[in-house]
Amino acid sequence: VILILLSQINVACSSSHLTPSVIAATDRMFLESLALQGMQLSFDNTTAATKDWGKLRHLEPAAVVYPRGVEDIATIVQAVARSESDLTIAARGLGHSTNGQAQAHNGVVIQMTAMRGIRVMPLGDGASKGAPFVEAMGGDLWVDVLKASLEFGLAPKSWTDYLHLTIGGTLSNAGVSGQSFRHGPEISNVLQLEVVTGKGETVDCSPTQHPELFFATLGGLGQFGIITKARIALEKAPQRVRWVRALYTDFAAFRRDQEFLISAISPFDYVEGFVVANNANPINGWSSVPFEASDISEAMIPGHAGPILYCLEVTKAYSAADLHTIDEVVESMLAPLNFHRELLFKTDTSYFKFLDRLHETEVQLSSRGLWDQIPHPWLNLFVPASSIERFDMLVLKKIMTQDFSGPLLVYPLNKSKWDKRLSVAVPEGPDEIFYIVAFLRNKLPELDGGPTLSTMLEDNDNILRVCEPLRCKQYLPRHQDRIQWKRHFGSKWDLFVQNKQMFDPRAILSPGQNIFSRRR
Ligand code: FAD
Repeated sequence: VILILLSQINVACSSSHLTPSVIAATDRMFLESLALQGMQLSFDNTTAATKDWGKLRHLEPAAVVYPRGVEDIATIVQAVARSESDLTIAARGLGHSTNGQAQAHNGVVIQMTAMRGIRVMPLGDGASKGAPFVEAMGGDLWVDVLKASLEFGLAPKSWTDYLHLTIGGTLSNAGVSGQSFRHGPEISNVLQLEVVTGKGETVDCSPTQHPELFFATLGGLGQFGIITKARIALEKAPQRVRWVRALYTDFAAFRRDQEFLISAISPFDYVEGFVVANNANPINGWSSVPFEASDISEAMIPGHAGPILYCLEVTKAYSAADLHTIDEVVESMLAPLNFHRELLFKTDTSYFKFLDRLHETEVQLSSRGLWDQIPHPWLNLFVPASSIERFDMLVLKKIMTQDFSGPLLVYPLNKSKWDKRLSVAVPEGPDEIFYIVAFLRNKLPELDGGPTLSTMLEDNDNILRVCEPLRCKQYLPRHQDRIQWKRHFGSKWDLFVQNKQMFDPRAILSPGQNIFSRRR
């Protein structure tokens, strides 16, 4: 439904302006000398590297490198780290960041998608004790990893909602979706990494081999090294999924059921949820919930419903042999839940189509200039379970009742599935459960009304202000200064700084995150 509405709109999109590259002549000569030695380095074709999903920052690099192998990456990192220059380096996946995190003003962007290669090991090896895994390059896409693994009837266990993201980009953050409650985020399912550190050293690391680099890199926002290869655990892939959505009018009932569904006895394989407005708006109203648009009408919404509704989204995977029992199994799994019985919607699809469900949206919106052509002032938060009712009262029911302009996801995760040694910051404190709340707003062209970009950014600031006493953390974070970063990482900050000193002492890597300043 979102698609249909958006696809009727034509684009006239505004974006922030470019901060051009101005580099010292000596730095330019230094980079040119590398090009002369055979490095695939472009000084002219830098436009793509100034763009990302957010369309909020456009910083021009001095050059873009297209690596042919890990040696190229080691060479350029080593050369820049040893030079007496101000040059920095950003690995860039597909630039799906929202705030210039993969950009390097006046520096070098390494276009990781130039290096691809996926190898599936269905019988594993000695180190994995025969457990299957897949090895992929940092610039490979998750969708290609899935396709290659499915050829062996296998698949990774943990996902993001959208698969056209790179391995290196998501592993530098976390990679969260409806399977994370059971398997942890994508970074909890990595067996081994090959990393080029900020010193230009190529290191294989794992939980037992150079574990400090392994855990620092996963969720490390690209600060410690460039992920050139990752080994990811696989499991037997299901063939189909029964996909279910159910509406609630009461937040307490919605969260109780979600938390029950992510408990140890969880019967579903995937648990997510989202918020919709109690109106007929096809983007964020209740009509965006059913799989067939004709399956819901205003008459079905209970009269006592407030301005927003909550939609549980779950799946049960199954194989062809279970086809005759799946209806019964799903019915019994839904029986203890407290959604409105007349507001239950189901569909059935292949495992691949379910995982790649956003791609169809991408193709349609892209053809109308409404995919990566428009600004996305996204805000992702981790909210401790003990604060989520207050968050609902103070944010969801207040700030967001007017115009979401995009999906608003709310679903719980189990903290024990996030190894404490990973760099990624999650809410501190005793709560075992925290929620991901994702405000995935799209700034449609001016002529289509809706809030302005600056209003959306103000909304984000207001939400962050409300969140401060609630012990929330930003996911895919953006912070202004070191004080904010220190607060963000909390008890992990000292180790984060120590790791930076150890693996990237000149602070050349991932300058777009705005955490450390380049040292000569
Ligand atoms: P980039 O944006 O290019 O890079 C991200 C950061 O990682 C940058 O700092 C960059 O310098 C660094 N980096 C990139 N490659 C490497 C590397 N090889 N080694 C070291 N550092 C590197 N996230 C979720 O968790 N769950 C979701 O469901 C989800 N859905 C999404 C849906 C859409 C439509 C979009 C646009 C994004 C979604 N994301 C989701 C966010 C996504 O995980 C991040 O954007 C992530 O950064 C991956 O994007 P990328 O591969 O383009 O990386």
